Amino acid sequence: MALKLSHYHVVSRPVFDQIEEQTKRAIFVTRTASFRIIDQASWSLIEQGKFQQLPPDILAELIDIELLVPGEEDELQTIIQQNQATITKDSDLYLVIQPTAYCQLGCHYCGQEHSPKMMSEEAQKQFVERARKKLETGTFTSLSIGWFGGEPLVGLSVIRSLTPQLKALASEFNCSYDAKIVTNGLALTPKIAKELVEDWNITFIEITLDGTKEYHDLRRMQKSGLPTFSKIFTNIVNLANQEDLEVTLSIRCNVDYQNYEAVLPLLQELATANLQDKVKFYVAPIHSWGNDAHKQSLSKEDFAELEIFWLGEMIELGFYPQLIPGRVPIVCMAVSPNSELVDAHGNIFNCTEVSYVPTYGTPNEYAIDHLSGQKMPGNRERLGNFNQKVSQGNYPCSTCEMLPVCGGGCPKSWAEGIEPCPSAKYNIEDRLLLNYALSRLTNEIEETEKCSSQLS
Ligand code: SF4
Ligand code: SF4
Repeated sequence: MALKLSHYHVVSRPVFDQIEEQTKRAIFVTRTASFRIIDQASWSLIEQGKFQQLPPDILAELIDIELLVPGEEDELQTIIQQNQATITKDSDLYLVIQPTAYCQLGCHYCGQEHSPKMMSEEAQKQFVERARKKLETGTFTSLSIGWFGGEPLVGLSVIRSLTPQLKALASEFNCSYDAKIVTNGLALTPKIAKELVEDWNITFIEITLDGTKEYHDLRRMQKSGLPTFSKIFTNIVNLANQEDLEVTLSIRCNVDYQNYEAVLPLLQELATANLQDKVKFYVAPIHSWGNDAHKQSLSKEDFAELEIFWLGEMIELGFYPQLIPGRVPIVCMAVSPNSELVDAHGNIFNCTEVSYVPTYGTPNEYAIDHLSGQKMPGNRERLGNFNQKVSQGNYPCSTCEMLPVCGGGCPKSWAEGIEPCPSAKYNIEDRLLLNYALSRLTNEIEETEKCSSQLS
């Protein structure tokens, strides 16, 4: 069978390995999210297409990780078909609920307009009935709920009343039940955290900190102007130290040119509180939320370069950052035919970033349905047929080697003319080399070294 070098790979620049006294490269096969170290001589043979000159076991390994693929294969169609098959087979029903349209915070980059609306009992009933219809299809084995805002903890009464109904529904259809929450953390006291985890099956909590106090309080203040950092940080430390609670805690730091200098001090503060192995931490560039917030962003290149610095500092401080992305067959809820978000007014969307955003009009142009049955202007296909559009070559994702591990970024951003490429697109080579360097220090990557010596 004629073979070719897969389009879906990234290779690092050559580096001299002091231990093995050889020039090597790190390679990343995005089709299978496989990382390997390879010696320069083998890489030269691969680049020249002289695959048969490689030792048979190495050749077999490279075919196995799909760095080498059949010569006639249309790889874009393979990836799109794999993604579509995963979407079709997905047996998890993922629904997002915004229990309230209110948030106590007044972050300058937020595109939402908040109002004191809570999801009514009638709307809750209608939503449970809607979920029932989906489960009745018999295609699901799990029900996953995302609590999102506004600030979902302002709508705690709705979480308290809806969760038992949703758990009962899941159990009626022999489905497991689990939930996550994205919260500003202000109301996440130890008592509430315990309730969320133990009573309402929340297994993942994401909280945003935009740097240390002096930066965060200028960006994520209460609507009254009062600061929030100290309270949120205390809540995070308390929750991280509640070892009896089985929950994953993730801290997101939103960054633009006004606060990028706050990332390192925040990491140091988290490390001083000994949270390195108790929280996940990542930095996200500020993006457009139906507004101009992205205009304050760092350039993609600057962000990517800073991120490599932060990742290196995280490793030094004892955190465990994810350096190498995994395969992403489902880019987001937009492409899943059954996933949806309901807001506190009963509007249904297949995207998490459009509700309560005044730019999208009244009624919201992205709303695909309403709990009351009222006809809404949007339709599921607008964002939902993203994979088909990629397959037809409508976006740069069609020719991008990162597609298998990116999924295409964000269908809404592409539709609005904003490039959503993740930072890894710009710093993947440095990530690979960082991972290689780390492999010299950790046991985990001794495994990789075994592979690497096979490839050497
Ligand atoms: S379309 Fe974009 S904004 Fe909407 S859910 Fe998907 S990734 Fe998020
Ligand atoms: S969003 Fe960007 S990085 Fe992701 S597949 Fe598309 S072009 Fe590539």
